[in-house]
Amino acid sequence: MARNRKERNSWGGFSDRNYDWSSEEEDYEKKAQPVQVLVVKDDHSFELDEGALNRILLCETVRDKEVVAVSVAGAFRKGKSFLMDFMLRYMYKTEPVDWLGDYNAPLSGFSWRGGSERETTGIQIWSEIFLVDKPDGKKVYNLSQNVQEDDLQHLQSLIFLVRDWSFPYEFPYGADGGSKFLEKRLKVSENQHEELQNVRKHIHSCFTNISCFLLPHPGLTVATNPKFDGKLKEIDEEFIRHLKVFIPWLLSPENLDVKEINGNKITCRGLVEYFKAYIKIYQGEELPHPKSMLQATAEANNLAAVATAKDLYNKKMEEVCGGDRPFLAPTDLQHKHQELKEDSVKLFRGVKKMGGEEFSRRYLQQLENEIDELYVQYIKHNDSKNIFHAARTPATLFVVIFI
Ligand code: GDP
Repeated sequence: MARNRKERNSWGGFSDRNYDWSSEEEDYEKKAQPVQVLVVKDDHSFELDEGALNRILLCETVRDKEVVAVSVAGAFRKGKSFLMDFMLRYMYKTEPVDWLGDYNAPLSGFSWRGGSERETTGIQIWSEIFLVDKPDGKKVYNLSQNVQEDDLQHLQSLIFLVRDWSFPYEFPYGADGGSKFLEKRLKVSENQHEELQNVRKHIHSCFTNISCFLLPHPGLTVATNPKFDGKLKEIDEEFIRHLKVFIPWLLSPENLDVKEINGNKITCRGLVEYFKAYIKIYQGEELPHPKSMLQATAEANNLAAVATAKDLYNKKMEEVCGGDRPFLAPTDLQHKHQELKEDSVKLFRGVKKMGGEEFSRRYLQQLENEIDELYVQYIKHNDSKNIFHAARTPATLFVVIFI
């Protein structure tokens, strides 16, 4: 695992997506921290902070890398931040085995505190993306090109974490006890309400893996002492013992599943597009229909393909004639542009996309238009380096004055 913070870089070239990396970036670079990317407003509508999301997911070192998203959801005051701070300790570990670290150090990361007040709503993400080398040969499930509504519902893994488990004599702590407990709880029985029966019937078709982990109570200091700051020495030994199993079970490289949609592995750049697309449809008054989810997903993966292909063109053109590269004869520049545009279009076509050929054509057109706009900028930039061209105006002026 490597941290990417120091290598973080801004977008160069003529991309139309230039993010403000000035003083805000400097603050941001100082310290990794939780960043609010989805805000729930007073009227219960959502707002996506695209700038914040872009700064994290579109930095050069990660944007084209496949992404594993680990999200923790649950009611407030249920120990999510507490748990995520342990996850951070694991990700920042310097010692592979003894990752829990100093027993006297308070926990830090996502802010958490005792009391019944809600600390955060919406979605926060950690500002630092962790780079992990994944062992190869992982099973990847592939869905057919022809996407059905159902396919969208394969959301990979769902893990139920049961905290304060108090019946270890019935189902022991950990994943095995959890799995048996879950099996029992997910059984459909005639006397359950129809809604509950339906959830139980469908949950398996929504997730590729469903598992459960039973954690013991962390001890009274954690649960009731308002001054508790996360020190391990104040947490029950039994809880720590099981936490030491749970966190690697969740986060060790061989247990991480790259996010997939439609059998395509998703990159950080793609994830940004999905965030934007889903937020758009959740902004409506009603819960979105599966059809609009499907549409939004198709749109997002086409847009992600456009962005990747355009980035390729931009990067290569930068190498040819960007920055202080020497002046290029206009016909050579044009040839280079044509060649790179073709490469970029080929890349776009090669990415597996949803929505069908017809649907993608619109995005292909968008890609071509955006590339042509970039080309105009490159021509101007290249022209400004032509010393003959630049010298002509002052020379004429000089003659005029002389007469
Ligand atoms: P969040 O709102 O879900 O992020 O919850 P927090 O992580 O801020 O935790 C809320 C409170 O629950 C804090 O006082 C924690 O010390 C306490 N807490 C954390 N984990 C557990 C747990 O597993 N069991 C119990 N009983 N309390 C916990």
